[in-house]
Amino acid sequence: SKVLVTGANGFIAMWIISSLLEQGYSVRGTVRTKDKSTLLEEHFASYAEKFEVVVVPDITKEGAFDQHVQDVEAIVHTASPLAPPTMDPDAFIRPAVDGTLSILNSIRVFGKHIKRIVHTSSTGAIARIFPKPRKLTEEDWNEMSAASVEAKVAKINMKRQNGENVEEKDKPTEMEMYWASKTLAERAAWDFYNKHKAELGWDLVVLNPALVFGPPLYNSTSPSDLNDSLDWFYRSVVAPSQGASPETSLTPEEDKAALPKEASEAYATHMRQTASYVDVRDLAQAHVLALQREDAGGERIIVCAGRGTWQDWVDAANAVFPPPTSPVSHPLPKGVPGVQGIFLMQYDASKADRVLGMKYRTREETVRDTLLDFGRRGW
Ligand code: NDP
Repeated sequence: SKVLVTGANGFIAMWIISSLLEQGYSVRGTVRTKDKSTLLEEHFASYAEKFEVVVVPDITKEGAFDQHVQDVEAIVHTASPLAPPTMDPDAFIRPAVDGTLSILNSIRVFGKHIKRIVHTSSTGAIARIFPKPRKLTEEDWNEMSAASVEAKVAKINMKRQNGENVEEKDKPTEMEMYWASKTLAERAAWDFYNKHKAELGWDLVVLNPALVFGPPLYNSTSPSDLNDSLDWFYRSVVAPSQGASPETSLTPEEDKAALPKEASEAYATHMRQTASYVDVRDLAQAHVLALQREDAGGERIIVCAGRGTWQDWVDAANAVFPPPTSPVSHPLPKGVPGVQGIFLMQYDASKADRVLGMKYRTREETVRDTLLDFGRRGW
């Protein structure tokens, strides 16, 4: 059967497409520009008969997907902005929400053969902070990010009207905007599904992956092309001199200053930051399973292999044995060995085990394969 994958050139989508093609599916990918479609056709050239790419320049435009959904049986919707192209929340959040609604509206009218939609959301749509950390489940929703972005935007507008200065602290953070975009897009998908359920021939599965690492498939020659999650990985685990991660409290100046004296407080703060994660190849398989498993219909599913500090990743990188044959061109940082993490959020991933039968790679495997890949690229 044929699957439409949006955002086909993305880090995660390329692995989803690879898994689908390997498992016998036909795939139509959507990208925004012709150059991206050419690169993808080259990458999947050995599947020329089963793979095609179409250009959808603006996913938010009504009817953008009409002609691309008519002969497919399933959709995997991954396209969504990661790093805000601008700090204007509307320009950032709208593609996530309207892109989701646009494809759902197209399917409602033209997707006669569609049986299932898999929407790639994020643990960011679940994240909540409690005074005492507790395990978050699919019952939890991130109520704070969208509300905070909304409040900040209202305040900025008010200040502008009154001719007052808008300060840096008035603006929503990148993380807030990204999490708001994922929460609102996922909500829009569920609202649409619940409203039209009775007349739909398909059901919805939402996957909520944690931070995604692992070797990329794209044919990129510079680390600056890495998607956000791998960029953090690269700048934390491989080459911290490439600048502060967006997650750290370091300014670029502090980051540079921190390097020779690795145990500085700011660097230690970065090393103890924690995140839940999943390997991109396991996440791709989760998407394929989400298409296949009957029981997954109507479910929201956290996909998460474990959690760790940046220090855990640095330690795992230093412990890769035997050392990679094509080592990365940087001496690996040692971090701040023994630093303790602060685990603000934890996710219960038992539904993915139960419904999808998920099996995950180990942290060691993810690190080794990522370093090997970076090494081959000369990074
Ligand atoms: P990438 O940046 O590699 O891919 C994002 C894809 O979305 C690209 O194809 C990109 O197209 C497309 N896209 C971005 N903005 C727009 C827009 N305004 N209109 C149309 N398409 C757009 O990221 P990932 O592969 O990591 O992310 C894929 C999905 O997974 C996203 O929905 C993301 O939120 C989700 N996710 C990612 C996590 C991670 O850690 N990486 C964790 C949890 C969820 P283009 O190349 O043209 O910009």
